[in-house]
Amino acid sequence: MQQVISELLTGSYGEVRLNEPLAPYTTWKIGGPADVLLTPHDKVQLLEAVKLLHRHQIGWTVLGRGSNMLITDKGIRGIVLKLGDALDTIRFEGDTVYAGGAYSFIKLSVMAGKEGLTGLEFAGGIPGTVGGAVYMNAGAHGSDVSRILLQAEVLLPDGELVIMKQADLAYAYRHSLLQSQPGIVTEAVFQLAQGDRKEIAAALAANKDRRLRTQPLQMACAGSVFRNPEGHFAAKLIEAAGLKGLRVGGAEVSPLHANFIVNTGQASAHDVLSLIEQVKSIVKQTYGVELVPEVLVVGER
Ligand code: FAD
Repeated sequence: MQQVISELLTGSYGEVRLNEPLAPYTTWKIGGPADVLLTPHDKVQLLEAVKLLHRHQIGWTVLGRGSNMLITDKGIRGIVLKLGDALDTIRFEGDTVYAGGAYSFIKLSVMAGKEGLTGLEFAGGIPGTVGGAVYMNAGAHGSDVSRILLQAEVLLPDGELVIMKQADLAYAYRHSLLQSQPGIVTEAVFQLAQGDRKEIAAALAANKDRRLRTQPLQMACAGSVFRNPEGHFAAKLIEAAGLKGLRVGGAEVSPLHANFIVNTGQASAHDVLSLIEQVKSIVKQTYGVELVPEVLVVGER
């Protein structure tokens, strides 16, 4: 590891931060340090960095906007890769849009709407990056990434850059192949359709308004904590079990939306994990339903 760190520091791989606290890089504002946080400035640096890590057999973790991650209190060993500004790009070609892996998914929906292109209205309230959305098959309001993705450019762990078509990504509810076969999404191409600018803007506004009324967006959180079990809504089960407002340390089941856990100020990952376990256990006892987290727990336990 020391050898890799010194090569990262002396070579041209982007910005290197050692022992960097990760809480500020997540929407939950929780998480210990990364041994190394590396932000390559462009695709070439990213490619070279991944090849270097492959040569030294050092593991890496990609961090998007950190809006679906619970980073443990001990933090992440090895290298955390954050995509830099060079992958924060957008380009329209007819009815398709090419977006860099670091581009904001919310901004993408707004930009598509301005172009009069429909298909991304569901993304208006999903505060991650394009790469994170492709990885998670992010979705809302009856749609998700799998419905509009044409293909993604993916950097494999050995440094090879490949194109993966939508059908290659084994999409299912909040699932993609990337969750079992790691790769870094550097660009995604979405197929949209011509629509009416005013109607698209109205749909985006209605979705936003609904979220503002029903989700604790002014609090540090990571969206829905649990996946919806087959035939159920996780939020309804948690609310019916009387768990709104349940707290462990600084973590609280949101009184506004039962499937959100909010950081009331000083929550640790340990607080959130304990609360998750309590909610799971009570819902299981009360309704016999096994809740499975949608948020990803990342880092040393
Ligand atoms: P991160 O949280 O940073 O990472 C998530 C996973 O993606 C990690 O495994 C990471 O390694 C991987 N990843 C990140 N970038 C890349 C990349 N470039 N290439 C490969 N892998 C990558 N989600 C929904 O689906 N629907 C919703 O309606 C929704 N609402 C939300 C509301 C709020 C207020 C919040 C805070 C979150 C919400 N989320 C929702 C969750 C979250 O925004 C999505 O899961 C989002 O897609 C995660 O993107 P990210 O960039 O933040 O990924």
